[in-house]
Amino acid sequence: MRVLLTGGAGYIGSHTALVLLERGHEVVVLDDFSNSSREAARRVAELSGREVPVIEADLADRAAATAALDGVDFDAVIHFAGLKSVGESVAEPTRYYRVNIDSTLTLLDLMRERGVTNLVFSSSATVYGDPQYVPQDEAHRTGVGLTNPYGWSKFMIEQIIRDTFTSWPELGAVVLRYFNPVGAHPSGRIGEDPTGIPNNLMPFIAQVAVGKRERLSVFGDAYPTVDGTGVRDYIHVMDLAEGHVAALERIAPGVKTYNLGSGTGSSVLEVVRAFEEASGCPVPYTVVPPRPGDVAEVVANPSKANAELDWSTTRSLAESCRDSWAWQSANPDGYRA
Ligand code: NAD
Ligand code: UDP
Repeated sequence: MRVLLTGGAGYIGSHTALVLLERGHEVVVLDDFSNSSREAARRVAELSGREVPVIEADLADRAAATAALDGVDFDAVIHFAGLKSVGESVAEPTRYYRVNIDSTLTLLDLMRERGVTNLVFSSSATVYGDPQYVPQDEAHRTGVGLTNPYGWSKFMIEQIIRDTFTSWPELGAVVLRYFNPVGAHPSGRIGEDPTGIPNNLMPFIAQVAVGKRERLSVFGDAYPTVDGTGVRDYIHVMDLAEGHVAALERIAPGVKTYNLGSGTGSSVLEVVRAFEEASGCPVPYTVVPPRPGDVAEVVANPSKANAELDWSTTRSLAESCRDSWAWQSANPDGYRA
């Protein structure tokens, strides 16, 4: 297939581009580089030995995106483009809704105009909100207890995709609900390159280990979990990338929804210890009060993806830490060398 990757220069998009190329597919990256760099696409080309055409455009700007894609052929889209910082979304809700929702509306109209029927969308376990039970399967209720516009935008886009299918039954869409993506390509050439202070746990830990930040703040140690710290399902980004390829290769008319997670939870302190072991560097931390909106435990039940996509995770938390360290230690300033 020839696959358009919106947001394809970003963290998950760049790893997915590489796996697609290695499987013999062709890719086209569309990105506005608001949270990424051209260098990521260049390194994907270098690692794969294949061409990675890049189109610079803001997908939320319908006229600009339509013009930029004029004459560009593709028969499937993986839609990664969007803003993803939970805290920022609380401070700037209109910007988050505009970018995330408008980008999707533009994309769906463009696909329909051109008769491109295959779509994979990056959703998030955040749509499950306040967990009723753990591990969460796809039947878990969504849209209750969401605490930020980022999460709501994912919830709304899932609904927009289902409504679009109702009016356009040729559409084949796969909604992938990611748990916590971590790690990097084992070469250490591509990885997660957050601008400013990382919001997420593993990139923060990596920056403490490499000496860019002094210590980790652990957000709460009185949750009802194994050691009192928050538990999440960390999934290696290469496993996640392979999940996209599995979904794309099985796409058919309809809307399917899958959890992409490992099914195993790890606490904050377990991640700290695993990272110390992988890097050989100490990760000092201080326990501080819980972060507002955080929940105790989020873990995937990935059975549906395991069965229907013939996909499961194969990489451990130790490998995620090792690969994250390979990336961080070789690229302490990310792509801004
Ligand atoms: P990322 O920020 O690295 O990648 C997103 C890419 O989209 C970036 O390259 C950015 O420049 C681009 N982009 C943003 N707005 C754009 C626009 N208007 N037009 C064109 N390009 C635009 O993030 P990521 O971690 O790779 O996440 C990819 C997708 O997965 C996002 O939709 C995100 O919400 C979703 N997701 C991520 C996580 C996570 O923890 N990383 C978890 C669940 C879901
Ligand atoms: N966390 C933490 N310190 C940090 C960042 C995160 O203790 O600097 C905790 C957070 O409370 C949660 C886990 O690490 O229990 C994962 O947080 P992250 O922001 O990476 O993912 P999410 O909250 O979206 O699952």
